[in-house]
Amino acid sequence: MATGFFWNEQCFWHSGGNYAGTVPIGGLMQPLSAGGLTENPETKRRLKNLMDVTGLSHELDMRSTASAATRQDLLRVHPASYLDAFKALSDAGGGEIGHHAPFSQGGYEIAAISAGLTLAAIDAVATGALDNAYALSRPPGHHCEPENPQGFCLLANIAIGIEAARAKGNVKRVAVLDWDVHHGNGTEAVFYDRDDVLTISLHQEGNYPATSGAIADRGAGKGEGYNINLPLLAGSGHTAYMHAMNRVVVPALTAYKPDMIVVACGYDASMVDPLARMQCTAETFGMLTQTIKDTAANLCDGKLVLVHEGGYSETYVPFCGHAAIAALSGSAISAPDSLHDAFQHRQPSPAFDAFLRQSIDDMAAQLSL
Ligand code: ZN
Repeated sequence: MATGFFWNEQCFWHSGGNYAGTVPIGGLMQPLSAGGLTENPETKRRLKNLMDVTGLSHELDMRSTASAATRQDLLRVHPASYLDAFKALSDAGGGEIGHHAPFSQGGYEIAAISAGLTLAAIDAVATGALDNAYALSRPPGHHCEPENPQGFCLLANIAIGIEAARAKGNVKRVAVLDWDVHHGNGTEAVFYDRDDVLTISLHQEGNYPATSGAIADRGAGKGEGYNINLPLLAGSGHTAYMHAMNRVVVPALTAYKPDMIVVACGYDASMVDPLARMQCTAETFGMLTQTIKDTAANLCDGKLVLVHEGGYSETYVPFCGHAAIAALSGSAISAPDSLHDAFQHRQPSPAFDAFLRQSIDDMAAQLSL
């Protein structure tokens, strides 16, 4: 029994082409010497590199041979028409299949491997083969709706993994906590009218997608009350995130009593991320993980899977991820975070933190929590 770490070299080979940030090159936007799409392999590859150098990966059950998700696995979430269109474009050399959803030749097969890592991690924890697990999936998945890929996401990794575990009868009631800084619209869309999967998203208000993630979106039909959006104000940092966890997330999970918790684990709420304006540190991601691990221990025998989503600072994501995975596994190995000390003065002022906490309290009241 251990913490599993699911990864595959080919996930680092997914390529979205030459962009400047999220803007395609052309016109006055000059090509970059190296592919400039913000979602690039380095954030993920350097996280694993750091774990190898500190020795953290040696304490984990490293699994690099998980099978790709099968078409049957994908069809539980995505319609055949979407899968066929994605596969055809992939075979033809790649392209852009949705808003900010580019890929190159073979992108379909790599996306199926990425989904397969998530699926295998959830399966291993659901069956009790592992205590908990981390899936270094790439491309990410939480923005991908059944027929609407977007935001670098081509398949709904977490939903595919949950549906596979449910089909095998290994889980009945799952909670998804999405702390990627962007709204988990894809996971929300898959489960919006269902009460057997609780979806919770903490995100920067109005970031991406610009028009989703409102607190009023609580689910529909049988799913009414089983979707929670907590749109946080730009500038939120460690204190606000921990308050959101303790004031909203933990009470909501405790009331729901899941069989398993899956985290859409993005690191783009960090203080140096180019695609958001939050101020979390590596310590924050370690403490978020410790809090959710303690909650899983109380509610569902510790059954917890973290699935890698966003996070776009090549230099800082490795330290954020290392802190999270050390907490997940209970390892004493740390990777000292020099940016934390260098940027302490950038944390929100006490007065702004108090304002942020009050806004979270107000949202908790709206959610009746
Ligand atoms: Zn994100």
